[in-house]
Amino acid sequence: MRIAVIGSGVSGIASAYYLRKLNFDVDLYEAGSSIGGRIGSEQLLLRKVDFGGKNIGKHYTRFREFVKACGSPEFEYFGLNTSQMVNGRIVKFSREGSKFFNLLRILKLCGLDGYRKLYPMARAILDDRTQGVLCSDYFVRISERLDHMTLAKYLNNRCVNNIIRPVTIRMNGAEPDECYPGNLGSNIALALDSYEQLKEGMHGLLAAFRQMDAPGSLRIFENCPVTSVSRDENTNSVRLEFLNKGIPGSEIYDRVISAVPAHRLAELIERELTAAAKLLRQIRYYPVAVAIVRYRNPVFKSDCRAMIFDNSVALSNAGAYGINDLDLVRYTFSGNVSRRTISEFSAPEAVVSLGEEIASPHFNIRGNPREAFVYQYLPEGLCAYSPYHHELLGRIDRELEQIPGFFVTGDYRRGASIEACFRAAEECVKILTGR
Ligand SMILES: Cc1cc2nc3c(=O)[nH]c(=O)nc-3n(C[C@H](O)[C@H](O)[C@H](O)COP(=O)(O)OP(=O)(O)OC[C@H]3O[C@@H](n4cnc5c(N)ncnc54)[C@H](O)[C@@H]3O)c2cc1C
Repeated sequence: MRIAVIGSGVSGIASAYYLRKLNFDVDLYEAGSSIGGRIGSEQLLLRKVDFGGKNIGKHYTRFREFVKACGSPEFEYFGLNTSQMVNGRIVKFSREGSKFFNLLRILKLCGLDGYRKLYPMARAILDDRTQGVLCSDYFVRISERLDHMTLAKYLNNRCVNNIIRPVTIRMNGAEPDECYPGNLGSNIALALDSYEQLKEGMHGLLAAFRQMDAPGSLRIFENCPVTSVSRDENTNSVRLEFLNKGIPGSEIYDRVISAVPAHRLAELIERELTAAAKLLRQIRYYPVAVAIVRYRNPVFKSDCRAMIFDNSVALSNAGAYGINDLDLVRYTFSGNVSRRTISEFSAPEAVVSLGEEIASPHFNIRGNPREAFVYQYLPEGLCAYSPYHHELLGRIDRELEQIPGFFVTGDYRRGASIEACFRAAEECVKILTGR
């Protein structure tokens, strides 16, 4: 059977991994010059740094199994040690601190009404971790009951500003009035986890993936954007058209998995399945800008390594890159103010200076010479799904059935976390192979 996967981000890599385990040969098409998508990295002075997904939860079981299969590169503790601006005051959270005091703080931040509404959701996930993704049974029921309103409407202001926004802004790039209760499970699951990161970064893992031993073979085509997916009338298989280093080409496959974000998929099927493309565009994506800056001296103290900012500024988070990298700051800009202030045309230098201006009252930044920085602006950086998401996905899937042999996965299926992308890919491969 000839199988192709489109897109080599986490979703495409996971799809190829599961297929190869089952002894299928895979052709992986990537539009960019290297694999990884939103877990990509860049050179900052003498080391590579990761721009996107890098924090790996203890409950990322599928992803950790993949890491093992790649030769078990080492993890290091990342932890949770952050502060948050609440009504102009700084509130500290620390996993290393007392669980009891953290709980008291959370209670104070969300109030009794917020606690009453959020606790059953958290309990459902703690009882059964498989519920902590998009479209799980529990959260489909929540969606059917509550998705006529946004999170900002469902919860009181205190809970929205203090608890919900710091989560949606970082995980979905969205404000609470752009997110829905039915999708909250994938966020709560992340908040209930604790984190590590790969010592050598994601680039080490990507290199290991290229070399990985598996029953099925892998061919990677970089600089090879797929331009359309359609049904081949003669063979009843899937026809891919692409540009291989700028030269148009086409191939017929028995099975194809799309592992690109929803709006990219919409472009690929626009000509053949206009209705499906229109539905895919209803899924929301929001921009995020990330700058990683090295300073000459430590910026953070080891007991306070990050700060989450409120909705009055463009900076959503400034944090140490790793537990021992106290001189390396990752600035993340997302949310309403960020969208009004920063665009793809903004000068990186100006964005970094803005982050420094906002963060400097709290950390050792002023007078601390900047040695180098790297910067990326992702116009569709984070997925925020849609209301009644399970219904929308159901309608999309029914439209896609018009191309037999074509299957889809990605950040909009089970959630945007690396583990959710692995779960969606595993499920997609199971459907494709009929197992
Ligand atoms: C700043 C940031 C921080 C994050 N932090 C974390 C974290 O700490 N932990 C966590 O679990 N998650 C995190 N995430 C989320 C997670 O990294 C992403 O949701 C996930 O990497 C998305 O992977 P994907 O494969 O679905 O999409 P992508 O990574 O976008 O991959 C899609 C790939 O398809 C390619 N492509 C697109 N169109 C075509 C085409 N026509 N033909 C061929 N190829 C194409 C793209 O070039 C890309 O390589 C973060 C995300 C961001 C942006």
